[in-house]
Amino acid sequence: MLDTVKKRNIRHLSLQELEGYFAEMGQPKFRAKQVYEWLWQKKARTFNDMTNLSLTLRAGLSEAFSLPALRVDASQFSSDGTVKSRFKTHDGHLVEGVLIPTEERQTACVSSQIGCSLSCKFCATGYMGRKRNLDYDEIYDEVVLLNQQAEATYGKKLSNIVFMGMGEPLLNYRNVLAAIERIGAPDGLGMSPRRITVSTAGVAKMIKQLGDDKVRFKLALSLHAPNDQKRSEIMPINETNNLKALIEALNYFYKETGNEITLEYILFNNFNDSLKDAEELVKVYRQIPADLVNIIEYNPIEAARFTKPPEATIEQFMDYLSANRVNARLRKSRGKDIDAACGQLANKAS
Ligand code: SF4
Repeated sequence: MLDTVKKRNIRHLSLQELEGYFAEMGQPKFRAKQVYEWLWQKKARTFNDMTNLSLTLRAGLSEAFSLPALRVDASQFSSDGTVKSRFKTHDGHLVEGVLIPTEERQTACVSSQIGCSLSCKFCATGYMGRKRNLDYDEIYDEVVLLNQQAEATYGKKLSNIVFMGMGEPLLNYRNVLAAIERIGAPDGLGMSPRRITVSTAGVAKMIKQLGDDKVRFKLALSLHAPNDQKRSEIMPINETNNLKALIEALNYFYKETGNEITLEYILFNNFNDSLKDAEELVKVYRQIPADLVNIIEYNPIEAARFTKPPEATIEQFMDYLSANRVNARLRKSRGKDIDAACGQLANKAS
């Protein structure tokens, strides 16, 4: 463990830096490419996996660098096919990732931080506080491990990735973007950024930054309430990033990138599920270039007071949206028989 902390993480080196290392060792340039491929494309977990390098070179690398990798600590299999995994980091932290299979897709839901600082009142992770950001190689590992699960369980590769697990991706901006770059790179996983959605609780300044950076992935806003008063009650971040600021930022993002925007709205019983709420939601929707509103069934957690509305209320809410030409879809909660709400599994001791 000490070695891992002291030595430089080899996956934090660029290809050019690796070339510099091998040049110093008097080795040909192509060695750097070989190692880079092992690290990102061939998903080596240890230096010993790099079988086209001599034992001496492998020993030299292990002497000079660390290769900390995420590993699966526990998995739960739901009767609906959802697989939730708890991953352990090299320094003993726990984070979660979920594999959500449907007929057409294998979607990985990944975490961006260990815990979260935003304290949303309905979310198990929000009650943990933030421990630290995940590095981009750790986020990459989550995707690799979930892809392996998809292949082993369903014989299919991942088709989509959503950053909807633990943490606020836009508060770990640099690592999330670097991970997405590696996931999309031909010498990484080669997955199109169009198949990736980053979901934010609403950090207006960073949404604009995404626009300035001309990112190619999709964006989802966790709206969850139709006005500032209700939103601030369940999402403290709304006090500094209100709906006006978010609407402006999302319009800017769309103008700069043209990328798809989705609004996420969890229905909470007797809180945001009335026809008046639906009416206000339509008003917000009209001000945002959103393609879709996902109405999400709540998966209750012990720490929160919220419950799911009765079916008739959900139906009435959906009917109102449809009558007002909102492109809305009802998302049924997955993995109800396991701890599939974000933060539930990592919060549990094994
Ligand atoms: S919902 Fe997302 S942003 Fe809010 S506390 Fe949970 S992990 Fe953090």
